[in-house]
Amino acid sequence: MASGKPNPARKPEGTEDLYGASMRAWVRMREVAGRVFGAWGYDPVETPAMEQLDVFVHGLGQATDVVRKEMFRAITSTNLATVIAEGGEGTLKASRRLALRPEGTAGFVRAAIEHTFVPQGASCVKSWYAGPMFRGERVQKGRLRQFHQIGAECLGSDDPALDAELIIMLMDFYRALGLPEGALRLRLNSMGDSACRPAYRELVRGFLLEHKGELCEECVARADTNPLRAFDCKNEGCQRVMSAAPASADHLCGDCAEHYAKVKARLDEAGIAYEEDPTLVRGLDYYTRTVFEVEALTGMGSQAAIGGGGRYDGLVELEGGKPTPGLGFAVGFERILIALEALGVELGGEEPPCVYVASAGHEPELENAVFRACLALRREGVRTERDYQNRSLKSQFKQADKAHAALCVVVGSDELAAGEATLRDMATHEQTPVALDALAREVARRFAALTAPGERGE
Ligand code: AMP
Repeated sequence: MASGKPNPARKPEGTEDLYGASMRAWVRMREVAGRVFGAWGYDPVETPAMEQLDVFVHGLGQATDVVRKEMFRAITSTNLATVIAEGGEGTLKASRRLALRPEGTAGFVRAAIEHTFVPQGASCVKSWYAGPMFRGERVQKGRLRQFHQIGAECLGSDDPALDAELIIMLMDFYRALGLPEGALRLRLNSMGDSACRPAYRELVRGFLLEHKGELCEECVARADTNPLRAFDCKNEGCQRVMSAAPASADHLCGDCAEHYAKVKARLDEAGIAYEEDPTLVRGLDYYTRTVFEVEALTGMGSQAAIGGGGRYDGLVELEGGKPTPGLGFAVGFERILIALEALGVELGGEEPPCVYVASAGHEPELENAVFRACLALRREGVRTERDYQNRSLKSQFKQADKAHAALCVVVGSDELAAGEATLRDMATHEQTPVALDALAREVARRFAALTAPGERGE
């Protein structure tokens, strides 16, 4: 019979536990997003991490890699064996076939339709989100199966000013995180719309068939399923062939060409540097007109894209809503961290400072005083630490240093009898008495002054 302890479980391949510095970085990135996007009128939203499978099949496209190969699927409250015995997943009602979201836009659009975010005649709705995404990819540096994205979406207008503003906001966001424009490459293209894209698709299809002999098997198959995806093939031979393929920007209809020109003019006006890249076609079917991608120039290995997005004027209709133009982007948290690390920027920063309440002994009246001082300080909003292991005073000071204490309140019997405690500045070791009845307010004031941005300790 098997005996002993079970082996401790490991996290699933391609997932990461966020804690300590990486968790602080994730919190910080969301704070920066809230601040930067808020200035552009974008409000936070949160949609479920899973949706009905059809939301992604309709939105992203049946033939996309994400839908064909990379989705984590689930069924609700049914024994899997029963489902298989009864004919498989296809026999289930749509509402019971679920998938973990591989990206955030399709779910957002589903929510926008369900709750009428953009009633007829209303102005645009601008939203941003942050959360985990799931793709069953081959794992490598910068490519995970559960990763985190921050995204922004805008529904309700096809004004090219919105495309430019969204891109400018994205570049502002990177800068606020510590990634200056010079460390990034912004690639830009226009993929046309339902008026000019079908003809362009046919053109690329013809081109693929003409060059069949020089392309990988998958690209040959793409001629019939999703010809534009051949631009994304990692195979060098295919890339060489595709560099001579017809460029979408040369085959835009009048309206799309004008739209694209206006986006570029606005970016120029804002001083945003970009490279036009006719081979940039993003991997999902829903994009129309403007598409863009941002790469970090150093430290990334083969996964250099740290964000991307574009316009999706047909998506709301694809998901069953009234025709509503829209656009958005998503950035990858883990890849931005890699890019920041290459520049020596530590987004998470140090553990936050605190006040440590130490006790010179373990008599009940001292324990009571420590408990009360901590209570009062915490209720003043001061991050406060104390000992729970009956440590000596010396060892408590060591703990205080470890906990990044800026100040230490020392409670001793004599001071207590005089209605006081001693306040110790952990950097200068300077000690001053402080009255117990004014302790929380006084310590909170000193702590705020010591830890204010730009002061010692920042
Ligand atoms: P996409 O929706 O594929 O354009 O992804 C937007 C951003 O999410 C990319 O630019 C990456 O930064 C990030 N990303 C996409 N897939 C992954 C992945 N498998 N692992 C980590 N980050 C990813």
